Amino acid sequence: MSDPQSQTSSLIDSFGRHVRYLRLSVTDRCNLRCTYCMAEDMQFLPKSKVLSIEEMGFVAQAFVELGVEKIRLTGGEPLVRNGVIELAQNISKLTGLRELVMTTNGVLLDKFSAPLVDAGVSRINISIDSLRADRFKTLTRFGVLDDVLRGISVAKAAGFEKIKLNAVILRGINDDEIIPLTEYAIDNGLDISFIEEMPLGEIDSHQREETQLDSVDIHTQLESRFRLEASTFSDPAAGPSRYMQVADSDTKVGFISPMSNNFCSSCNRVRLTVEGLLLLCLGNEHSLDLRSLLREHPEDIEAIKAAILGSMVRKPERHYFDPNDITITRHMSATGG
Ligand code: SAM
Ligand code: SF4
Repeated sequence: MSDPQSQTSSLIDSFGRHVRYLRLSVTDRCNLRCTYCMAEDMQFLPKSKVLSIEEMGFVAQAFVELGVEKIRLTGGEPLVRNGVIELAQNISKLTGLRELVMTTNGVLLDKFSAPLVDAGVSRINISIDSLRADRFKTLTRFGVLDDVLRGISVAKAAGFEKIKLNAVILRGINDDEIIPLTEYAIDNGLDISFIEEMPLGEIDSHQREETQLDSVDIHTQLESRFRLEASTFSDPAAGPSRYMQVADSDTKVGFISPMSNNFCSSCNRVRLTVEGLLLLCLGNEHSLDLRSLLREHPEDIEAIKAAILGSMVRKPERHYFDPNDITITRHMSATGG
């Protein structure tokens, strides 16, 4: 991994946006079943349809050669994928990459924090939607809160440059935990982002239009308890999140508002699903099948790069999400959240 001046990406879409950030889904499987993310009875992909660790590393190399500076390993739960540490080791060595990061549910971080740091993962996001053991179990269908809390504490000691918590807030389900989750982040010197639920994939636990909560309401709740100041935080690869500093603390609060605040004009990212489908937009089906190309032309990185470059004209200008209308049948876990 090198740390040059931000290089110019050759990946520019029809709207002049530079793509510098790849989110790579390493598995569609998970050791939890969060109710807003998955249905209870999920069908996972057979092995033949899933990219191998080598294929993922190869595509990552193609993206970095095209100017991508940041890669996030995600899923599904990335830490349940065999070979994920080896993948991280290989990606972090790519010249031109500035940051290799991961989003995880934290359950396996007691075992994997040190290997991840050693493999070159500099920052992690840990998802935690409740600090109440019973509610955590209900929200994740069978998760054990203490596993995640232990994972967070091991991760803190492991030497990541930054740890951020992610919480999806659902009206009437966990919106009374916005302040406790933020207090927990402050007490532990962590950042925290609040995410609006998106209508991705069929779920069977709740009606999304009933649980939708606007980031503005989250902000209002936070201001009743904390002083939020404009953040000087700037990260050229960060993309659409808005951050505020909690006064007199080391904690920044982020708002990820795909429903209430369309941030597409600053979109700098694409996603690679575990099946090798390059998704040009989270909220649209515009995609390119890289798996077929990889298997037709193994080891031909120029063919992969040419296909990725050619796909840029298909990146849509924006998404249109409607909580009542599931036009995107992919679950977030298959997409690479
Ligand atoms: N399993 C890992 C985790 O939970 O952090 C990584 C994958 S998960 C799909 C990535 C992020 O997407 C998590 O923070 C999760 O809460 C969020 N997420 C999942 N489904 C979502 C949805 N329908 N709307 C908004 N965020 C969602
Ligand atoms: Fe698994 Fe993450 Fe989806 Fe929860 S949000 S079910 S932890 S992939």
